[in-house]
Amino acid sequence: MYRDLVLNVALLVALSASYNLLERLRFPQDSVKRVLGGLLFGFVTVVGMQLPFHYAPGLIFDGRSIILSLAGLFGGPVTGAVAAAMAAAYRFHLGGVGAWTGIGVITTSAQAGMVWHRRMKGRPEEVGASSLFLLGLAVHVLMLLWMLTLPWPMGLGVLKQIGLPVLLIYPPATVLLGQLLAMEARRRLSEEALRRNMELLQKTQSIARIGSWEYDVETRSLTWSPEVSRLFGVDPDTPPSYELFLQCVHPDDRGRVDRAYMESVRQGKDGYEIEHRIVGPKDGRIRTVFEKCEHVRRTDGSIVRSVGFVQDVTERRVAEEELRERESTLKSIFRAAPVGIGMVKNRVIHEANEQLCRMTGCSRYELLGRSARIFYPSDEEFEFVGREMYRQIAQKGMGTVETRWRRKDGRILEILLSSCPIDPQDLSHGVTFTALDITERVRVERALRESEEKFAKAFRSAPLLMSITRLEDALVLDVNDTYCEVTGYSREEMIGRTTLEIGLWRDPSDRRRLLKQLRTRGRVTNLDLDLRMKNGEISHMLFSCELVVLQGTQCLISVGMDITERVRAERALKELAAELELRVAQRIAQLTEANKELEAFVFSVSHDLRAPLRAISGFAEIIARRHREALNEEGRRYFDHILEASERMGNLISDLLNYSRLGRKALAWEAVQVESFVEDVLQPYEETMRSGETELVLDLEVSSLWADRALLRQILSNLVDNALKYRREDSGHRVRIACRVEGNEAVLMVSDNGIGIDPVHHERIFNIFQRLHPRTAYAGTGIGLALVKKAVSLLGGTIRLASEPGNGTEFEIRWPLPEEGKRE
Ligand code: ADP
Repeated sequence: MYRDLVLNVALLVALSASYNLLERLRFPQDSVKRVLGGLLFGFVTVVGMQLPFHYAPGLIFDGRSIILSLAGLFGGPVTGAVAAAMAAAYRFHLGGVGAWTGIGVITTSAQAGMVWHRRMKGRPEEVGASSLFLLGLAVHVLMLLWMLTLPWPMGLGVLKQIGLPVLLIYPPATVLLGQLLAMEARRRLSEEALRRNMELLQKTQSIARIGSWEYDVETRSLTWSPEVSRLFGVDPDTPPSYELFLQCVHPDDRGRVDRAYMESVRQGKDGYEIEHRIVGPKDGRIRTVFEKCEHVRRTDGSIVRSVGFVQDVTERRVAEEELRERESTLKSIFRAAPVGIGMVKNRVIHEANEQLCRMTGCSRYELLGRSARIFYPSDEEFEFVGREMYRQIAQKGMGTVETRWRRKDGRILEILLSSCPIDPQDLSHGVTFTALDITERVRVERALRESEEKFAKAFRSAPLLMSITRLEDALVLDVNDTYCEVTGYSREEMIGRTTLEIGLWRDPSDRRRLLKQLRTRGRVTNLDLDLRMKNGEISHMLFSCELVVLQGTQCLISVGMDITERVRAERALKELAAELELRVAQRIAQLTEANKELEAFVFSVSHDLRAPLRAISGFAEIIARRHREALNEEGRRYFDHILEASERMGNLISDLLNYSRLGRKALAWEAVQVESFVEDVLQPYEETMRSGETELVLDLEVSSLWADRALLRQILSNLVDNALKYRREDSGHRVRIACRVEGNEAVLMVSDNGIGIDPVHHERIFNIFQRLHPRTAYAGTGIGLALVKKAVSLLGGTIRLASEPGNGTEFEIRWPLPEEGKRE
């Protein structure tokens, strides 16, 4: 009996242990576990039914009611039903008088357990002893009631006999077994919760990159969570140690980290915080970690252990660094930006960069805290910009408006304003804006527009042919009215076609010529071109071209002038000039001929006159000498007149002969030795000079001069003759002869301080027979200066006269030196 009891108890403990084992196992579906649980409970019930208490043959009592009720309570409906089914089947198999009563007990016990399961709301492990006792009581009261179903009076007998012991033993037994199962279940659940918490902790540490560690001061042992190994990059199987930890710390930080721990212990602090670098022993990667440590103390204050966590803050530090860099970049952009940048919140200026201050002419102090109205010249403008910005920001998230601002000094600026909200969802956080001063741009654009207009007008109405063609293929892009008028083509006929297609070039190679000039000189000026008009006529044009780039295409602006008429006129003029030249040449030839004839006539007349004159004067002399005495006074006087007149005539004839001889011979250039030459020329006047009446000044700067000796003699002797002759009686007479070389010219000067010549006669005295005085005052033939002039012109030189009455006379002769004369 006791043995059975012990066996029963052992069975129940085994049940408890194996049920808990089953509960720990994981199954893909919970129902499988519930069925298996039912089978386990059923199996134990069946085994328990092998060791029953036999009340009467076929009437057995055992612990099935307890087990099945607990199967229903702990396993729920499925477990309870499966266990009950097994037990019922076995009881049915055993048979006997109490079989149906037994099956009833089996069913109600399992059902009672299920009711309790429901009452516990699926958390049977929380069932208390009193509740278990109630369950045991209920199950076994039901069991005793079932006894009444036994054949009468057996049921009553059974009830009487086992009623009390059953009610005394079975409910506490239910409590005991229930408590055992509940305890096991609770332990299992708390173990599971612990495991889950640990998992969660590790997961959390890995996500947060936080590892925890603990250092036992007494045993000097260090433990750390797997995340620490991961963080430090050490093998998870390597046992942690303080030395291993220090090894992982960056060499530069190692001393500091070691000191931090030691000092916190020594100084009796509760803990410490430190940030340092670590170097992965395998990959050498440097990371930054944050450590926090706290010491756990005994009541006496001594440290038992230190706990702490280590957190990887590399990303945060990098992010912070990036953030700092970005912030400083933004700040420098803000400061140095060449556009005005500012921030406005509720229409009040909250930020303004230097450029904004420069633009507005206000200091930062003057802008911050003021209404943005300060920027605008009028309320209307301010309101307009506000409205427009609001509209655009609502539509596109940002806005751009061209507006006008007024500087502090009153100057109006053209501004391109762009604005963007700080928080697009909530404009009350304010907007940032950039302001670009486009005053100059607007002005330039306006000027450009005006100049374009001017150009377009000039282009259209210019009286010259103007065209714009594409450089690469001479495609006509535009032509002006004059172009159309002159060529006869309409604009539509030309634009979109090349000048070659239109057939404008008489000779298409002219275009190549034009392009060549354009390449070498960069432009074409006044190029002669022949163009074919629409009616087939050829016109002469003068074209100038310049290269321009229009919308990225190289183009040619050409300006042309129709010079057909001019060319015709020039041609006619040329022909006329040639004809005239021919006529002039003919006339000159005739004149030269006539001149020659005249000179020949003068020469022959003078020559021929000489003989009769010589006869007249010869005979007159003989008469005067031999028959003078036979003549009376009057006759003698007449004879003297004859002699005098014939002498004069002789002089005249020899002068005329001289004049006409001059130039008959070719020029004979030679270097004339000046000094001896002058001496030679002055020789006939030697006596006059010596008498002291005339002072002679010679200013000969050169020793020799290139000239035709005979011509030079004519010039000098005639000038000297006149200088000596036309003296003033009232003062001392002075004659100066000077010569020099000036550049390529020889200069000869003869001057005197004689009576001088009235400027009105300066021209005419060079003509033949022109005299200013009667013969009685000054002798002469009036041919001298004409001779000088002719000789000078034969030398290719010029003569200049400077003289005034009473102030003397100066003749200056200049003639170009021949090549050999220049070299000397
Ligand atoms: P003429 O034989 O009369 O000197 P020229 O042809 O040599 O003829 O001179 C023309 C005139 O020029 C002279 O009659 C004289 O009136 C004037 N004439 C020339 N040389 C001088 C001079 N050195 N001083 C003043 N008058 C001069």
